[in-house]
Amino acid sequence: MIVAVPRESASDERRVALVPETVMKLAKAGVAVRIESGAGERASFPDEFYSAAGAQITKDTAALVDGAAVIACVGRPSDAVLAALPKGAAVVGFLAPLGDPAYVEKLAGSGATAFAMEMIPRITRAQSMDALSSQNNIAGYKAVLIAATLLPKFFPMLTTAAGTIPPAKVLVLGAGVAGLQAIATARRLGAVVQGYDVRSAAKEQVKSLGATFLEFDVGDAEGSGGYAKELTPEQAQAQRAFMVEAIGKNDVVIATALVPGRKAPTLVTADAVKAMAPGSVIVDLAAEAGGNCELTQRGETILSSNGVTIVGQTNIPSTLPYHASQLYSRNVFALLAPTIVDGAFKPNFDDDVLKGACIARDGKVLIGGPA
Ligand code: NAD
Repeated sequence: MIVAVPRESASDERRVALVPETVMKLAKAGVAVRIESGAGERASFPDEFYSAAGAQITKDTAALVDGAAVIACVGRPSDAVLAALPKGAAVVGFLAPLGDPAYVEKLAGSGATAFAMEMIPRITRAQSMDALSSQNNIAGYKAVLIAATLLPKFFPMLTTAAGTIPPAKVLVLGAGVAGLQAIATARRLGAVVQGYDVRSAAKEQVKSLGATFLEFDVGDAEGSGGYAKELTPEQAQAQRAFMVEAIGKNDVVIATALVPGRKAPTLVTADAVKAMAPGSVIVDLAAEAGGNCELTQRGETILSSNGVTIVGQTNIPSTLPYHASQLYSRNVFALLAPTIVDGAFKPNFDDDVLKGACIARDGKVLIGGPA
């Protein structure tokens, strides 16, 4: 069995799907790994590290995927990889299938067996494969560091000979994986932190990190599988109105609220931005899904008319590429390990985890019903 790892094609992608540590683990399981030259370079894993771990390095896409059972990617594979795909080969990666049926059709049309990392069920058994969590954890951490760098103030309280500096006030909207890590990181830097979420279970989690919970009961907002559901227009309007004053009291807002497969909810209106003091910072981790802030511009950092910096940077996990790749690589290994039987790729498609992640197989679309 051969696992092939292409160089990622997105220009802002610095991560690599498999790191040398995982190459060695796969070798122990009787699996050979082929790496496209330079695939790990931007994550600080040069070709020599892969060679030392026993991987074969190749410069040519056709040679890379020739005879491979699995193509391991971070994002979507390039068209060149899809075109050269061996019959029945599996593609693993963040394939972003929700809301893009045309792309899933294209994947199915390529003959690939496609496993989308973001579709792995969030069940206890699959925690080691949960790439959404491993990467969102990084996003939450990095969002706070970005805010701390941009804020013209200290985060911690300081008592100096020149007088006392009060701590920065940070509000974290959405207390899922990214939000909880943002709360923990902002607390470590000494800020006074408030967390907010529509799920009632989030309250205890926010408090356990030493933050206070911003109380606003929006009514029923719990969806299935521990996720939030989209609010009704009335609920959303009430939430936005409440947020204006709450947001205005903070120096930093880290916005992480998401509803799977939907546009991100707007929690920070233009009025809320106006209510913040000049120099305040909003880091909108939901920018990729349309943003939690009305003024966010995807991929850009902008200054509002009243001097608030709004960060709409996307793919933040890629800015910590060494550890992001290491954790992602472990997630991919955990997904693949049960599919390796006597050194051959034999996925059990009746398994709930693989079934949940598999979005295309034998030319058929398997997400949202048959094509
Ligand atoms: P997510 O990225 O989908 O959303 C981030 C947060 O935004 C969520 O906490 C959500 O409740 C919140 N949100 C959505 N709409 C909102 C609104 N209008 N206002 C305020 N907040 C809003 O979430 P996630 O980080 O993927 O976590 C989702 C759930 O999955 C959580 O319950 C988490 O504990 C759970 N989880 C379970 C496992 C596991 O058991 N393996 C692993 C990871 C996460």
